Amino acid sequence: MIQWNSIVSSVFEEVKLTVSTGQVADYIPQLSGIDPEKYGLCLTPISGDQICAGDADEKFSVQSISKIYAVALAIALKGEDIWKRVGVEPSGNPFNSLVQLEYEKGIPRNPLINAGALVISDILLTYLKDPKQVFLNFVTALCGGDKIQINPAVAESEKLSGFKNASMAFFLKSFNNLDNEVQDVLDFYFFQCAIEMSCRELSQSFQLFAKGGIAPDGKRILTVSQTKRLNALMQTCGFYDESGDFAYRVGLPGKSGVGGGIVAVHPGQYSIAVWSPPLNKKGNSVKGMQTLELLTTRSGMSIF
Ligand code: GLN
Repeated sequence: MIQWNSIVSSVFEEVKLTVSTGQVADYIPQLSGIDPEKYGLCLTPISGDQICAGDADEKFSVQSISKIYAVALAIALKGEDIWKRVGVEPSGNPFNSLVQLEYEKGIPRNPLINAGALVISDILLTYLKDPKQVFLNFVTALCGGDKIQINPAVAESEKLSGFKNASMAFFLKSFNNLDNEVQDVLDFYFFQCAIEMSCRELSQSFQLFAKGGIAPDGKRILTVSQTKRLNALMQTCGFYDESGDFAYRVGLPGKSGVGGGIVAVHPGQYSIAVWSPPLNKKGNSVKGMQTLELLTTRSGMSIF
C-alpha cells in the first residue's frame, strides 16, 4: 500500500519552500493580479479519500485545462468523426502558434492547442442548442459537487486582448474549418477557458480518466477506448512543446493551463491536481511540474 498521506505532505512542504522562478501569465490582463505564492495540491486515489494540501480549495482560472473537457464532451457526442477536422499529433510548437496551420491547410495538429480547441468549440456549437450550459453541466457532473461557474471578468478580459486567438479563428474560417461565425466560436472558447475550479474539483473530475470513462455518479461518459485515446492525447500533447519533457520528468498523462494549474492521471490508480501560478517559458506551472516530478519519483507511481 502506498503511503500517499506522507508522500503528498513531504512533496508539498519541500516544493513550498523553493523560491518561485517563472512568471504569472499577464497576456490576459485579468489573470495578472493572482498571488504568485498560491500553492495547492490534491490527490484522489481510485478508492479512498482525497488527500489535499495548501490552497487546494481555492478556485482559480483553469484556462487550457478546459480543452480536455471540451474534447471529451465532443468525442462522447460525436465519436471519431471529430478527427476529420483536427489531428492527434503533438505540435512541437507553443499553444497559440499559427505557423503550422497554414501549411497544414487549416487542420490543427491536436485539440489541446488553441487552434484545435477552436475547432472543437465550433463542433460543439453546431451540435448543441445551449453549448455553454451543457459544458458547465458536464464539468459539474465530473466534479460531483457544487456547480462549476465561469469568471465573466476573465472571459471578457480575454475577449478584449485575444488578438492571436482571433487571428487563428479567422485563419481556420478561411480554410473552411469553422462552420459558425468567428465571434461565436471565440466567445464560446473564452467562456470555457474562464471556468474556475479548485485543485480538489480538478482532481475529482479526472477520476473520469482514472476510471476508464465512468463519472462520479457511476454513469459511463466515455467508452474504455475513448478514455484510452484521450489519455494518450494528454500524454503526447497536454503540455504543448513541453509534452516530451513532462513525460520524461513526470510520466503521467495530464493537462496544464496558464492559470497555473496542472491535472494528471495514472489510469487505474489516481488523479492529481496542483496549482501554482508562476509559469515557465512554455506556459506550464514551474512548481506544478516540480511537484508532480517529485511525487511520481517518490511513489514510483508513473505509467512508465
Ligand atoms: N485562454 C488561454 C489562451 O487562449 C489558454 C491558454 C493556456 O492555458 N495555455 O491563450
